[in-house]
Amino acid sequence: MSSFPPFPAADREAALAALEDFLPRAGRDYAEQRNHDQGPSHRTNVSLLSPWIRVRQLPEWEVVAAVRREHGATTVGKFIDEVCWRTYWKGWLQLRPTVWRDYRQRVARLQAEAGRDGEVQAAVAGKTGIDCFDAWARELVETGYLHNHARMWVASIWIHTLKLPWELGADWFLRHLLDGDPASNTLSWRWVAGLHTAGKTYLATRPNVRRYTQDRFEVTADFAKTPVDLEHSPPPPVQPLQELPAVSAGGRTGILLTDEDVSAAAWLTAEDAPAAVAGFFLAEAYEEWGTADHVVRFRKEAMWSALGKSADNGLFESVDRLADWLKATQIEVLLMAEPPVGIWTDILPRVTRVCRESGVQLSLRRHGWDTLLWPHATHGFFRFKKVIPQVLARLDEWEG
Ligand SMILES: Cc1cc2nc3c(=O)[nH]c(=O)nc-3n(C[C@H](O)[C@H](O)[C@H](O)COP(=O)(O)OP(=O)(O)OC[C@H]3O[C@@H](n4cnc5c(N)ncnc54)[C@H](O)[C@@H]3O)c2cc1C
Repeated sequence: MSSFPPFPAADREAALAALEDFLPRAGRDYAEQRNHDQGPSHRTNVSLLSPWIRVRQLPEWEVVAAVRREHGATTVGKFIDEVCWRTYWKGWLQLRPTVWRDYRQRVARLQAEAGRDGEVQAAVAGKTGIDCFDAWARELVETGYLHNHARMWVASIWIHTLKLPWELGADWFLRHLLDGDPASNTLSWRWVAGLHTAGKTYLATRPNVRRYTQDRFEVTADFAKTPVDLEHSPPPPVQPLQELPAVSAGGRTGILLTDEDVSAAAWLTAEDAPAAVAGFFLAEAYEEWGTADHVVRFRKEAMWSALGKSADNGLFESVDRLADWLKATQIEVLLMAEPPVGIWTDILPRVTRVCRESGVQLSLRRHGWDTLLWPHATHGFFRFKKVIPQVLARLDEWEG
């Protein structure tokens, strides 16, 4: 029997209960203790909210408003910064979508070459002989979660000590983390590898692991003392965010939810209530990636919960079913939260085509949180951070 805690439930009720439970600890406790990885059964020093934030079962603005209500504005700055790191990475990738495309192409090439297969298999099975790494490899697969510090150490050992390609490590994380997120994950791995900030890599050290894991591991293995020198080109120039044109004519409106933002029905307001709401979850795309079952289950359950667990609100897994629904509901305008760069980069063109063939106008919308913050992810986080007060000033409006 597994000694790990069970996977959390994805529904809104479970998300709200987890937020409620964390709120008292979101202030000074979080700021002082969050860096410690005390093991899977001792996680009260961090929020564990990321799986729900990832799919916006708990949208960022709701979480930030809740911690400010509980503690006032001053003591929750650290926690709010961390939530905004997520937005920073998303904005950064949205402004440079070719970084995602190039990374996915490299994963496909490396998988086809299979040159380091044995070593990669040993690493992901937790059989490297490095005690802490092996324990985290098992924890990742069995719980879908790793503490932030453990993610940094694992990525560092993978890249600099085991000298494995960072892209395959990032892919492994993305397929198993419940919060697996194209932007936060890919860009964090790039940062550890030294590809994000010129001259900066992240090297795990034994004293640091021992200290922040409360000596849970012996850590007898040697970690790399110098980083691998990866071929590095400057990031591509920033591309402006896609303009999202207004709907050219009114009409019977529907909403299509995705697992990128299950909260969207609440903020995608039409002039009249939508005639129908449905969800689209292309399970085959996740399967093609070899995504772990627990991740697929979590995403689907989150969508079911957002759709009111009602059979009237369909959750479609193929474009044919979506086309049938568009026809049956006679929708003329389909509203959708713009899916960020990531798995939906390949799915969106299929949905666009179905809409075009069905004579339906697809209208993508971006939430104010993203509209305000994403354009500022042009440089580092510290410049980006200066805009945070602007979103804090609008929380009341978004909370409705
Ligand atoms: C190599 C690596 C890979 C990562 N992959 C992912 C990923 O796929 N998805 C993901 O959501 N996060 C990723 N992170 C960031 C971070 O580790 C997780 O967001 C965090 O550990 C989630 O746990 P928590 O909810 O308990 O976080 P808390 O510490 O409680 O933080 C609260 C929230 O802030 C956000 N957050 C916190 N730290 C970060 C960060 N460094 N970057 C971005 N957002 C952050 C998350 O939404 C999190 O839920 C990665 C970090 C590293 C180093």
